[in-house]
Amino acid sequence: MTAETEPNLSTTRTTCPYCGVGCGLLAKRDDDGGTQISGDPEHPANFGRLCSKGSALGETIGLEGRLLYPEIDDQRVDWDEALDLVAERFSEAIAEHGPDSVAFYVSGQLLTEDYYVANKLMKGFIGSANIDTNSRLCMASSVAGHRRAFGSDTVPGTYEDLELADLVVLVGSNLAWCHPVLYQRLQAAKAERPEMRVVLIDPRATMTEHIADMHLAIAPDGDAALFGGLLAYLAETQNLDLAYIERHTEGFDGAMASAQSISLETIADQTGLSETEIEAFYRLFAETDKTVTVYSQGVNQSSIGTDKVNAIINCHLATGRIGRPGAGPFSVTGQPNAMGGREVGGLANMLAAHMDIENAVDRDIVGRFWRARNLAAKPGLKAVELFQAVGEGRIKALWIMATNPADSMPDADAVEAALQSCPFVVVSDVVSDTDTMRHANVKLPALAWGEKDGTVTNSERRISRQRAFLPSPGKARADWWQVAQVATRMGFAEEFAYDSPAAIYREYAALTGFENAGTRDLDVGAHGDISDAAYAQMRPFQWPLAADNAKPEKRFFADGGYYTPNGKAQFVAVAFERPKRADNEYPLTLNTGRLRDQWHTMTRTGKSPRLAGHTSEPHCEIHPKDAADIGVNDGDLARIQNEHGEMVARVHISERQRIGSVFASMHWTDQFAAKGRVNALVPSVIDLVSGQPALKHATVCVTPMHAALFGFAVCAAPPVDTGLDYWAMARADGGWRVEFARAEPMADIAEYARMMIASTAEMEMLTYFDEAGGTARIAFFDGRRLEGAFFFSLRPVDVARVHMTEELMTSFDDPRARFRVVAGRPSADRPDPGPVVCSCLSVGANEIAMAAASGCGDVDAIGTALGAGTSCGSCRAEIQGIINAQPPVAARQS
Ligand code: SF4
Repeated sequence: MTAETEPNLSTTRTTCPYCGVGCGLLAKRDDDGGTQISGDPEHPANFGRLCSKGSALGETIGLEGRLLYPEIDDQRVDWDEALDLVAERFSEAIAEHGPDSVAFYVSGQLLTEDYYVANKLMKGFIGSANIDTNSRLCMASSVAGHRRAFGSDTVPGTYEDLELADLVVLVGSNLAWCHPVLYQRLQAAKAERPEMRVVLIDPRATMTEHIADMHLAIAPDGDAALFGGLLAYLAETQNLDLAYIERHTEGFDGAMASAQSISLETIADQTGLSETEIEAFYRLFAETDKTVTVYSQGVNQSSIGTDKVNAIINCHLATGRIGRPGAGPFSVTGQPNAMGGREVGGLANMLAAHMDIENAVDRDIVGRFWRARNLAAKPGLKAVELFQAVGEGRIKALWIMATNPADSMPDADAVEAALQSCPFVVVSDVVSDTDTMRHANVKLPALAWGEKDGTVTNSERRISRQRAFLPSPGKARADWWQVAQVATRMGFAEEFAYDSPAAIYREYAALTGFENAGTRDLDVGAHGDISDAAYAQMRPFQWPLAADNAKPEKRFFADGGYYTPNGKAQFVAVAFERPKRADNEYPLTLNTGRLRDQWHTMTRTGKSPRLAGHTSEPHCEIHPKDAADIGVNDGDLARIQNEHGEMVARVHISERQRIGSVFASMHWTDQFAAKGRVNALVPSVIDLVSGQPALKHATVCVTPMHAALFGFAVCAAPPVDTGLDYWAMARADGGWRVEFARAEPMADIAEYARMMIASTAEMEMLTYFDEAGGTARIAFFDGRRLEGAFFFSLRPVDVARVHMTEELMTSFDDPRARFRVVAGRPSADRPDPGPVVCSCLSVGANEIAMAAASGCGDVDAIGTALGAGTSCGSCRAEIQGIINAQPPVAARQS
């Protein structure tokens, strides 16, 4: 089946489009056109499990907001016109300014087949390596660290290792929220073997802390020093595997000399941890043979990310804990196909099939295999450099596929300005309105998840099929088709004559095996001649899968066999200096990251009311001491500022936050909030080895946002923009929920509410004013239906928000029931459930707290009473947190 054929309506086995866990899904079409999503019990990544995002996928596949037709300068055109123009403008730029005057910026959301074709066009035929990917933002430092140590970008282990380990060290990884199914697997393994130990190394006590036996609240970027010290400790306590070091590695003495150059006092200073904490961790690591160290964005998104990765790998090499069941360093990727992108050369400094653009032998292999007309001979521009080049006018034509750099790149305002100034911008995407799309000269409608066909690779090297189960809407076409069509128009018809993703996959698989003979890690040559039927039926498998099946094992490097010239792993002597810390002007360190129920810039998850219920506006977490110093209370609005930009966020005060740090999530865009783009604050500081930006280490100041008027509203339709100084919108069943604030007071609040809802003559208005208390509540009804309810206050609005969003779905047959709306509180028989904790079963924090107060002492008891935590399980850590926050039973009874 190709991406363009009409799929049948039976259950389809496919793969989740969100995180790098890569869960298998079953998508079942309903008779009424809906889709039921469940976990695939046979998929080896998740064995039927899902998280809240995966299980809500069925709510995100509607056509609302989709880009369905090609457009030039915002006018609908046919495909030929759009593709001709793209080919013409790219060819003109190349002819006039050379191949390096054009660029592609692609995405870990692309399928491997899309990625392969885009990379082949740029590196093999245009003759530039100016193709980079948003995966640069999430795991380039792991790639660089792997290549320095192993000679190849190889993830040695498998997910099963987390279950088999006696010690799992989670570094800069909020596994509970960012890789929830892996967290569920770890949680189940620990429940079965309580003697298993988990250490969390993270500046914040994230939800992952609930599974940890030890939490080290490390100072930002203190990890390199911590693991450097660990290497020295392993030597001092004679816990090295000298035979492994001797037989399979090089560079040990240099790395050890560097590690021994820092004292315990220095490590304590660099990490902010006590010497007792550090020694306790070192002891545990030293005495536990079966140790897995999992690391993610907290390690990678740093100006010293590659050194951190190598500091971790050094400790595993020194103990021979690599490639064995239950032992190894383990990088988990953010995106669903970040690994696939790495494999086909989606990074500007790589060639396809894990080959090296700076290696003449590799260039020769790829060049001959592709029959390349103009193979790139040097690395291209990495993401941050690429957009700087756009801003400087060096890039004349840019094609962005399946990503939103105007929000996700650091120094996001400068990236927007660069896009604005670029002579020719093409954007292929599924949504019509993003902060990037508004700068496109040509908009190309792409197929979305559920409509496209191809493969993805997850964090454990497992290749799975993503399959179409929905028809292609409008004129949307696959990304690989779009690229192949442009290539054809640029004169490369023969080399891009693909008729299906299966044909592309065959070519890619053959390239991995071409003149390989065990010299390269990535080999799926067994699929070089896979039939269309076998591709359609392909089951998930881990590479390598060579044609001669010479390396069928699941793990790498237990017996050496590294992909360096002499086959030995390289220890790396890393630097231990932390980057610049906060100063008087910008005293706080801004840590950015993800929330449990949102994905990237919310183009998909933002459509789900269930997911929006968990966190419905930009928020920042701050320690009580810092909040007191700044003068903000829980629920206030705050400005977060530095020399690069500004955002406004709701304050959440939490002891889980480290003093001196503030956390804000990366998800909000101009579509969902005013001033919610956190990456506007992040400077373009990069790791000089990997090119990955330090997205977790901006310095900022936080001040209260003073407003004359605060508001909350629920509306059947998005409210009219009336010049609010702050607003944030989120989907609710039956409409929207909106938070807002104004700097200036309003003389006539009722009139203002009328303007916001664009009141019509048919609407009936109900008002309640409390002048002494400084509050006003105004509701609009059209017949039995609530059109909008507005709550104004001189302070942040206190109203039962979840209850109010439910009123949008209520039929007000009895006019007296309308007074309940302006009361802003549910009646006694309908208690306010509070903010959503369990999004699968819509159970709120108040309900869980009440159940805990009345005797449900653990998560399972809450599950029995309310159902919360019994579906995908992503909320179990939060439920435990609510239980823990309850006063002891004796106190409750007094
Ligand atoms: Fe999707 Fe959740 Fe699985 Fe990640 S853990 S792949 S988001 S279902």
